[in-house]
Amino acid sequence: MAKTQLMMLGPPGAGKGTQAKRLEDELDIPQVSTGDMLRDARRRETELGQEAAEYMDDGELVPDDVVIGIVEERLQQSDADEGFILDGFPRTRKQAESLADMGVELEAVIKLQVSEDEIVRRLSGRLNCPECGAAYHEEFDPPEREGRCACGSELTRREDDRPEAVRERLETYTDETKPLVTFYRDRGMLLEINGEGSPDDVAARIQDAIGVST
Ligand code: ADP
Ligand code: ADP
Ligand code: ZN
Repeated sequence: MAKTQLMMLGPPGAGKGTQAKRLEDELDIPQVSTGDMLRDARRRETELGQEAAEYMDDGELVPDDVVIGIVEERLQQSDADEGFILDGFPRTRKQAESLADMGVELEAVIKLQVSEDEIVRRLSGRLNCPECGAAYHEEFDPPEREGRCACGSELTRREDDRPEAVRERLETYTDETKPLVTFYRDRGMLLEINGEGSPDDVAARIQDAIGVST
């Protein structure tokens, strides 16, 4: 089978992680989430984690070189041989260019379209699993056992889901990441997907667009 190299693009809270995890199960290729990797480095208090912390809490981007380095290393691991779903990377033009320089040819860039009101609703109720990276929502997608992930760990709220940090992240998205929409559209890779409606609705639209049936 050819490599399946996909990327999720969209503002914070658009549902990138939620849909990437579904694709991971459906296609049997790993989700590669830079946000999850950085949060994991912070929990382990590595040098990388300490460097990233202040940027993340302020809703700013971690420097390109740092993020490019961790992605390059991650994509060399054998579980990514058959493909992967990038989630949260690239986020700047420089990162997009570096990805191409690594020889990665994306099959599709899945852009999730969601209104700003919906983003605020989603982020203000988001609950995350620090162990496996799963996201839940207290109202829209509550965990079966209150406060617990399906993997058994205790769910937490992300520090950067505070309203001030969300505002900052939305600005960062508009300034630095949104230009990638044009970048990938110009290269014929962009699939624009309506990200509103239930997670099942959105998953069905993505499957239609990438031509995968399950
Ligand atoms: P979201 O759920 O808002 O899309 P992520 O979990 O992907 O957020 O990222 C959380 C934070 O981690 C970002 O605000 C940023 O500080 C940092 N980060 C994640 N991915 C990148 C990246 N590709 N480049 C720079 N910083 C990143
Ligand atoms: P991103 O990775 O783009 O930041 P997430 O996948 O973490 O976004 O989703 C943000 C929040 O919205 C989470 O609380 C998640 O449970 C919830 N969510 C995701 N998709 C939907 C949807 N289609 N409808 C309602 N809530 C959703
Ligand atoms: Zn979990």
